[in-house]
Amino acid sequence: MSDQHSGHQHFETLAIHAGQAADAQTGAVVTPIYQVSTYKQDGVGGLRGGYEYSRSANPTRTALEQNLAALEGGSRGLAFASGLAAEDCLLRTVLAPGDHVVIPDDAYGGTFRLFAKVVERWGVTWSVADTSDVQAVRDAVRPETRLIWVETPSNPLLGITDIAALAGVARQAGVRLVVDNTFASPYLQQPLALGADVVVHSTTKYMGGHSDVVGGALITSDAALGEELAYHQNAMGAVAGPMDAWLVMRGVKTLAVRMDRHSANAGRIAEMLAAHPKVAQVYYPGLPEHPGHEVAAKQMKAFGGMVSFRVAGGEEAAVAVCDRAKLFTLGESLGGVESLIEHPGRMTHASVAGSALEVPADLVRLSVGIEAVDDLLADLSQALG
Ligand code: PLP
Repeated sequence: MSDQHSGHQHFETLAIHAGQAADAQTGAVVTPIYQVSTYKQDGVGGLRGGYEYSRSANPTRTALEQNLAALEGGSRGLAFASGLAAEDCLLRTVLAPGDHVVIPDDAYGGTFRLFAKVVERWGVTWSVADTSDVQAVRDAVRPETRLIWVETPSNPLLGITDIAALAGVARQAGVRLVVDNTFASPYLQQPLALGADVVVHSTTKYMGGHSDVVGGALITSDAALGEELAYHQNAMGAVAGPMDAWLVMRGVKTLAVRMDRHSANAGRIAEMLAAHPKVAQVYYPGLPEHPGHEVAAKQMKAFGGMVSFRVAGGEEAAVAVCDRAKLFTLGESLGGVESLIEHPGRMTHASVAGSALEVPADLVRLSVGIEAVDDLLADLSQALG
């Protein structure tokens, strides 16, 4: 098996084989964890296999980076210590003081915090737009805009943005479109093929898939941008360590089967919640009444494993549902095989309080796992009371 992505293979095959050539020395079928910082040189500057120092490159990380590039249909993948480290690298590579970015009105709280509390201090301005509204994004773009940032489905309200439509807006304005593909994963959605310039991942989530690693990634099909990002990845240094790269790679091999099951379970749960008297509103792009349903059906293979809902009775009722859940573990993060429940307003999205991204106080977010769906339905029924 060549470690080059052939372009003819299907996603499930690439997930297992891209970047994963059998180890040349031992024949090990699984890429080893090269837990090493430096490499012997044959004479000064005589690098065997191109490796010099593991911040710059490490064979386990390289295998993951090639794999991620193949899965997103890009030419360059880069793996980082966390999703936010990947985002930080991208922003510091492409932005300079005086630049402006358009950010979505629903996004992971930490991404908003990076723009509002960190990037703003470098003299970069931002404005918020409803990215599901193409005209609203067009109106938000200014002469100094460099990036349009999108999450689809978004965290935590599962908003859907038409990636191809926004790629058109970005192209016309001469700005880059960045898509955080964490909620969908490349199995369900391929933003680069739809015209995005860069894909961002928290690989902590579905890519890793087992709640045992924190990581991030950037993927692009723009070779020059890929070089610049790689330069900054090394210059800034927030790389994925070899053990973490290996764990993400291990997770990715089962991504397709996990996403099918996450999506099937989440669809059943969304239907149950939509019919429940104690649920005021359900946010799931697979429901026909979701305003983004048609766009999601067009650009996604299935609708994913994330479901949010508002509890009739307000914030205290929503917190009580989280507290009563048993099989759904109360905790932050998402995308693992086990189901999680959380209260975004007090947990993952506390950092957006008081901003344009504030989330409803009666909102509960589920990361639906791959357990037997009847057990999950029973647990939610008892938690709703
Ligand atoms: N993007 C999304 C959509 C997320 O949900 C998260 C984390 O929850 C991140 C980015 C940040 O990733 P990390 O926590 O790996 O830094």
